[in-house]
Amino acid sequence: MLDAALANQLKTLLANITFPIELAASLDDGKKSAELVELLTEIASFSDKITYVRTDDDERRPSFAITRVGTDVSVRFAGLPMGHEFTSLALALLQVGGHPSKASEETIEQIRNLEGEYRFETYFSLSCQNCPDVVQALNLMSVINPNIRHVAIDGALFPDEVEARQVMAVPNVFLNGEPFEQGRMTLEQIVNRLDSGAAAREADKINAKSPFDVLVIGGGPAGAAASIYASRKGLRTGVAAERFGGQVLDTMSIENFISVQHTEGPKLAAALEAHVADYDVDVMNLQKAAKIIGGEG
Ligand SMILES: Cc1cc2nc3c(=O)[nH]c(=O)nc-3n(C[C@H](O)[C@H](O)[C@H](O)COP(=O)(O)OP(=O)(O)OC[C@H]3O[C@@H](n4cnc5c(N)ncnc54)[C@H](O)[C@@H]3O)c2cc1C
Repeated sequence: MLDAALANQLKTLLANITFPIELAASLDDGKKSAELVELLTEIASFSDKITYVRTDDDERRPSFAITRVGTDVSVRFAGLPMGHEFTSLALALLQVGGHPSKASEETIEQIRNLEGEYRFETYFSLSCQNCPDVVQALNLMSVINPNIRHVAIDGALFPDEVEARQVMAVPNVFLNGEPFEQGRMTLEQIVNRLDSGAAAREADKINAKSPFDVLVIGGGPAGAAASIYASRKGLRTGVAAERFGGQVLDTMSIENFISVQHTEGPKLAAALEAHVADYDVDVMNLQKAAKIIGGEG
């Protein structure tokens, strides 16, 4: 099922898992179910910590759960997470298997402390470039906090659901059966929407800061450049951005950034962030300016 290079890569990655995990499939007689069995048995052959079992305990078929044995830590995929979602599958295996994520300690703590039951369903397509971020964020959240459940659904294999729920674009996320959001979202954006106290805590932190000489509103290429120039002049500089990276985050292929023949939006946004981080600029991301009030003098 996997080509040799991909199989080797995954095998190497799976050496990092520390807890035993189980791949539990719900299948029907279709071709996609047969492909899923092939994929899951192949993955199980890569590590003695992974077992494959057919349970048929879920209505969506084919689907499978990746579960940390003896715990309720689990994520589920409905369909075959290949194409752009293969990375999501690899990360889910690693994280359910106990490998730490790259999320900040602060965000992990926020997720751990979320109260209530959250049942997320994300519709994706295998060619969607904005889907993996959302799928991976929600998978990670469900690994950290078992009150959060997530199933990532390949819409192409479940057309009746897609039609009934009027899913027009992907990623499309439902929470507890109700539409939640569509389009690209970061882990932090999702967490802050669920964490009702987050806004107040952030406001307290920002209010406690001493005034900036220059406060740039917006964290796209223009805001990033402005903040670097201000900081280079020795001014105390801050950036308040609703979404650091700006529109650049929404595009994959950029070919008119002279001297760089080709780059991708998220890569350019990460480079902007790294460049700003080289300076003493206080970046306050996920903050929306409601109004601007002129200072004295
Ligand atoms: C799909 C797509 C593809 C593109 N492809 C290309 C391309 O190939 N080549 C090219 O040259 N250009 C391309 N562009 C355009 C390019 O991305 C923009 O010209 C560029 O991002 C503009 O930079 P900016 O910093 O002025 O604004 P933006 O990138 O729009 O950034 C605005 C910033 O302000 C923040 N903000 C807005 N309101 C508030 C508020 N009230 N409070 C706090 N923060 C706020 C936003 O969150 C964001 O951080 C593309 C755009 C899109 C959407």
